Amino acid sequence: MKVIWILSIAGIGTNTLLFFQPKFEILREKMVKYQIEARGIKSETVLSAMRKVPRHEFVPEKYRREAYNDYPLPIGHGQTISQPYIVALMTELADITKGEKVLEIGAGSGYQAAILAEITDSVYTIEIIPELAKSVRKRFLQLGYKNIAVKNADGYYGWKKFAPFDAIIVTAAAEHVPPPLIRQLNEGGKMVIPVGHQFQVQNLMVIEKKDGKIRCRNVLPVRFVPLVREKK
Ligand code: SAH
Repeated sequence: MKVIWILSIAGIGTNTLLFFQPKFEILREKMVKYQIEARGIKSETVLSAMRKVPRHEFVPEKYRREAYNDYPLPIGHGQTISQPYIVALMTELADITKGEKVLEIGAGSGYQAAILAEITDSVYTIEIIPELAKSVRKRFLQLGYKNIAVKNADGYYGWKKFAPFDAIIVTAAAEHVPPPLIRQLNEGGKMVIPVGHQFQVQNLMVIEKKDGKIRCRNVLPVRFVPLVREKK
């Protein structure tokens, strides 16, 4: 009798909790449809990665309900997780196919790296803030992302040991394109990077290395946190 009573109370508790939980899959589906597809992202690989990665697992607890909204969110240490559309756009511009090696500068919450890890199997990401690098490693472990390597360092210098990379995505605004990153880009590879000063308009640029030549194009004005430099 007592056991049944306890179970039924527990049952009610769980149901009530489930009832009040936002339906993350539904929110995610809406995010892809209204924020990403509607703005012209066509790549099926990018869309399916955006449909799959649980963005709410990458934001602090108090912002979970807002995880699928159309704006960036704070992730602590003065940093932000980018707006979903920007993540999708940068991923599409990087033009990654399965088997390619990708480098990200600015791991932050790890969300962009997780999207990349759904598309290809070797992802490298660098984060300059030690606490963020530590928490992102833990998050990848918990969520089962085994194909993402994290380094705590100044990403300006890239990750020479694993270069060249088929694509490089920089998720913090640089005042100029770091020459080490150009050197570490593979022939035929693309780098997607916001370039500009902190309080001015920054340009999202695509840099392509083809036949040993570098070609650059501006895609759109953006606003990113700055790529900070390690104090020597
Ligand atoms: N890609 C992240 C967005 C992070 S915001 C995500 O999906 O959540 C930019 C991140 O770049 C911050 O975490 C910041 O600490 C980091 N960063 C800034 N300058 C850096 C540098 N020189 N090298 C590596 N990371 C840097």
